[in-house]
Amino acid sequence: MTVKQPYASRLVQGEKRIENRSRPTSRRGVIAIHAGKALHEHYRAEHVDGVADMPRSVIVGTVEIVDCHEATLGCSVDGVDCSALGGFVATSWEPVFHWVVTNPQEARPPLAHARGALGFWVVPADIEHEVVTGEASDGR
Ligand SMILES: [Zn+2]
Repeated sequence: MTVKQPYASRLVQGEKRIENRSRPTSRRGVIAIHAGKALHEHYRAEHVDGVADMPRSVIVGTVEIVDCHEATLGCSVDGVDCSALGGFVATSWEPVFHWVVTNPQEARPPLAHARGALGFWVVPADIEHEVVTGEASDGR
């Protein structure tokens, strides 16, 4: 799935264990994290060190989705408050869902360029090998 920076890198580096989304997911398992072309809106205007230089329009690694719950004040994962894991709680009437991820694997260097999309999308077959093995496929 596509995530805007700096959150894409923070997910695959294990700094962020909660992905905040407006919809729940029943999907579980390993997914590729693609860094979107645009920075997250909170980082566009501010010049936070390093964020503008983070890889974009590439797959930065993988995480494993293990759980999902609706965000509430004080919700937690394994006894740790979600807010300490990168989780937000809704400030308006719109619900927020916490997608809990584990097993972060950062691809170094980032893998093939790819176009992002909303929601889950299928990694093109020609770069799937790279994502799974971390090795560039032939001819690259
Ligand atoms: Zn939570």
